[in-house]
Amino acid sequence: MKQMAFDLDFDKHYNASLVLACEHCGKETSKHLRSLAPDTVLRCSCGCDMQITSHQLTAANQRQRQIKAAYRIAS
Ligand SMILES: [Zn+2]
Repeated sequence: MKQMAFDLDFDKHYNASLVLACEHCGKETSKHLRSLAPDTVLRCSCGCDMQITSHQLTAANQRQRQIKAAYRIAS
């Protein structure tokens, strides 16, 4: 399966959400990082499945730590 591009989004409580863009329709689906487990499949409203691999989850958690460290946010 092709690697999905992802982005991180923070709410006002600094909870990170993983944002995945559907490669079919381009719609973005976001999910709280904390609630995600490896190999979770998110379904876009167009019916396309997006699988989150453990590799992506690890990368997202690393990026979250880096961003929090940059803004001096205690996690
Ligand atoms: Zn879609």
